[in-house]
Amino acid sequence: MDIESFAKGKLQEIEQKGLRRFARVTTREDGVRVTRNERVLLSFCCNDYLGLSHHPLVKKAALQAVENYGVGAGASRLITGENPLYAELEQKLARLKDTESAIVFGSGYLANSGIIPVFVGPDDLIIADQYSHACMVAGAQLSKAPTHYFRHNDIKDCLKLLQEHRHQARNCLILTEGVFSMDGDIAPLAELAALAHEYQAWILTDDAHALGVIGEGRGSSFAFGETRLNIPLQMGTLSKAIGGYGGYLCASANICELMRNRARSLIYTTGLPPATLAAAAQALEIISADKELTTRPLARARLFTQELGIKEAESQIVPLEMPDIEQTMKASAQLEEKGFLVAAIRPPTVPTPRLRFAFSALHNEEDVRALARAVKSVAG
Ligand SMILES: *Cc1c(COP(=O)(O)O)cnc(C)c1O
Repeated sequence: MDIESFAKGKLQEIEQKGLRRFARVTTREDGVRVTRNERVLLSFCCNDYLGLSHHPLVKKAALQAVENYGVGAGASRLITGENPLYAELEQKLARLKDTESAIVFGSGYLANSGIIPVFVGPDDLIIADQYSHACMVAGAQLSKAPTHYFRHNDIKDCLKLLQEHRHQARNCLILTEGVFSMDGDIAPLAELAALAHEYQAWILTDDAHALGVIGEGRGSSFAFGETRLNIPLQMGTLSKAIGGYGGYLCASANICELMRNRARSLIYTTGLPPATLAAAAQALEIISADKELTTRPLARARLFTQELGIKEAESQIVPLEMPDIEQTMKASAQLEEKGFLVAAIRPPTVPTPRLRFAFSALHNEEDVRALARAVKSVAG
């Protein structure tokens, strides 16, 4: 078969299942307003939960870095890409998360695909929540470690897998998300940490949707009361609440140093653009100084679930399950007609079709009430 027929055949298959994806041209005017087809819409699908992508101080820091250092890193970090801004950013991350050290990767996806294979291989074991993000799955596959998935947030199922498989393996890594990206619920981290201790396993939490919004902005290890949970591997992204781009791991100094020596997705890729480092450092500064800002996305989500009379939001992300793909797409289109941009999420990204609402510190209460009224009229 020639390659054109192959590609066309694949696309037809996707189309027939109703799963064809389109990237639509979108201009983000600020943290919550976007323009599409010359219409301004209020977005409930940006992950820029604090509006920092457009914050004047963050933009200024990025512009200043371009002036000082140019637009590109020039090489990988280990060659000449180790711009002085890296150390500043990593210190700020470690301070916010109260870890000994931190190391920045090119993106969250690169972080997970690099971190996981450093700790486990074919003689080891991975136990992962079934809803773990695609990049944790990629990291698990790259590691070649036998991988078993437990039912979402189900401690008993996780325990069962440990009992069945732990004894045959050397190292064991447990993977989960702090705040789940498509469900908005929070992992039972205190219980998982206790299990990990009992079974001599190491936990990696993906805090992509937790940093900046949960635990006073300090992430999921701070979401369980006064004391910080002791999670050895806390990764996340600088592309969501931080508003820019890049990934990170907060961990001990030894672990971060090991990344510099062994994580292939850190070693064999170009350093981040200096402006990206400067923007993230400035955004972290804002998050550390303004606790009220970090509590607002969840407060807006809770107002929304209250208005709709559905289960109280655990985080700034609220899913609304829909009967089928067609109705999900239709509801999303109707909301867009009314001026609200809401993501329709379908398999294979999630097992069941749903609308996904992401709340931002920049939404005001009336925005949320208007959205709730619109949702009732299209999906009620
Ligand atoms: C977005 C996301 C990532 C990937 O982060 P990027 O920096 O965008 O590559 C990883 N994990 C989760 C849970 C995410 O939602």
